[in-house]
Amino acid sequence: MSAPPVSDPRLLGREVLRIAFDEATIRQRVVEMGAEITAAYPEGDLLVLGLLKGSFVFLADLVRQIHRPLHVDFLVASSYGTDTVSSGNVRLVYDPETELAGQHILLVEDIVDSGRTLQKLADTLRVRNPASIGICALLHKHIAEHLSHPVRFVGFDAPHEFLVGYGLDHAENFRHLPYVASLK
Ligand code: 5GP
Ligand code: MG
Repeated sequence: MSAPPVSDPRLLGREVLRIAFDEATIRQRVVEMGAEITAAYPEGDLLVLGLLKGSFVFLADLVRQIHRPLHVDFLVASSYGTDTVSSGNVRLVYDPETELAGQHILLVEDIVDSGRTLQKLADTLRVRNPASIGICALLHKHIAEHLSHPVRFVGFDAPHEFLVGYGLDHAENFRHLPYVASLK
């Protein structure tokens, strides 16, 4: 557990409780994940689908460590329903324009908490007949253990705290931090 930066002008006066994963640790792990993913897809077309907005930093670093041909697109999902927290309904606000049939899809998420968002998205994409759907997340809180679509590639097991940085926000702040921190 590293000490928080004494003065980081990115924080706009907000204090960071502690750094959970520092820049060097993330960089190292992303290199390893890129190698794992490269090995896992020896052939076929690979479409890396980033879930916006949280995955944008991770995705940008990750794809540069995947040493095989691939395409990149994004998904924007929105929760809806009378009880958005527990209904787990997701709707695609931006849908990839690419044909998904026959492609290996790698869904990239910033953090998995209950896993509901990803499970619903995977179900939604499944009906378009991709060759496979793999799920990759930088952080995993392991709240739900019985997911119908397991997360195949995980960067780090995350503490059960509210995390920001490296794409993760709090009220749209802190996405640009190069580290992941637990917010005070
Ligand atoms: P799930 O559907 O797995 O319960 O929720 C996943 C989503 O919740 C993530 O994509 C992220 O937007 C949000 N989330 C869950 N935990 C955290 C956290 O610790 N920090 C931030 N910033 N977002 C989180
Ligand atoms: Mg999110």
